Amino acid sequence: MTTLSQIIAGNWKMNLTLSQGLDFVDVLLAALSEKKISRKLLLAPNFTLLAPLAVACRDSVIELAAQNCSDHESGAFTGETSVSMLKDAGAAYVIVGHSERRHIFGESNALLAAKLGAVVGAGLRPIFCVGETLEQRQQGVADEVVTRQLTESLADFSGSRLIVAYEPVWAIGTGETATPEDARLMHAEIRRFLRTRFTWGDEVPILYGGSAKPGNAAELLAQPEVNGLLVGGAALNPESFLEIAGV
Ligand code: PEP
Repeated sequence: MTTLSQIIAGNWKMNLTLSQGLDFVDVLLAALSEKKISRKLLLAPNFTLLAPLAVACRDSVIELAAQNCSDHESGAFTGETSVSMLKDAGAAYVIVGHSERRHIFGESNALLAAKLGAVVGAGLRPIFCVGETLEQRQQGVADEVVTRQLTESLADFSGSRLIVAYEPVWAIGTGETATPEDARLMHAEIRRFLRTRFTWGDEVPILYGGSAKPGNAAELLAQPEVNGLLVGGAALNPESFLEIAGV
């Protein structure tokens, strides 16, 4: 079995101004100059912070992700941002299908498939989020929901640089974390899907997201097939982000 190097990604959502973002990076860089890390560190700031943070993170181990993208390359799409623009600004990764995009902005599996195509087409690496709601978990259809999200959005996926994030909707920003066992079982299910669907299915990092914090990160990261964490709330503070990353 391949050993994937673990990824710790911080999703800042619609938080942090430029000066706050730059201060955050300063704290990270200072800590990283004292201690080497084998995990990959990603930050997903607001679009407006990507270019200046790319400058601040140059020659460091910190890489940048965008939180969303348009499925269109250019044109009359007021308020949208294309993958080439994100690449230009310094993003190497794009989060696609975060539950807030699915549930607040109504993004469908079909739209997310188009966004995945755009991301890969631009040579960026998608972090594709999947996850069930509380109601779906209680109805016992969590596996089915996640498999459908994967099947419908990855039907035409080409290129092997995919990252999947399992983020149970009921655990995002709620303080409720999936138990390590819940995460282990769903990650195993996702791995089975990826192996069946792609010859390179073993190479796909599968991140867990949902109220990950310093107190539960190590146990989650110790589960088989948990290849990293996508962190929201606890990634807004550099000290807790570093603690989660094990720095
Ligand atoms: C997220 O938004 O991707 C997330 C996991 O948020 P939180 O860690 O706050 O639950």
